[in-house]
Amino acid sequence: MKPILIPGNSFEYIYDYGSTTELRLKAGEQVRIKNTGEAIIVLGMNDPPAWTCSECGKPATFHYNEEDNETVLCNECSENPDLDECYLLPITNSPRTGVCAYEGGRYD
Ligand SMILES: [Zn+2]
Repeated sequence: MKPILIPGNSFEYIYDYGSTTELRLKAGEQVRIKNTGEAIIVLGMNDPPAWTCSECGKPATFHYNEEDNETVLCNECSENPDLDECYLLPITNSPRTGVCAYEGGRYD
């Protein structure tokens, strides 16, 4: 059987649920398994990036997308009553974090 991915190969993947997210991925390691005939589940997870609050420098927990896609806030700063909470989205360990209406999935 010819492998589909070989370590070092790069490829692109596009999520499109109304707000497109483009990923550039690289195969990192080949894992040999015994073929049992059962379905294989492939899981991949990145190390979550550290987000720093745009206002105070503490660890951030929310995106705030009212004016841009760059503003992130900590819990304390996200409680500012001047903010419109409909623009607050939780930071998740996903390339879709901060994308319109994305609040995370089962594993992030
Ligand atoms: Zn803060």
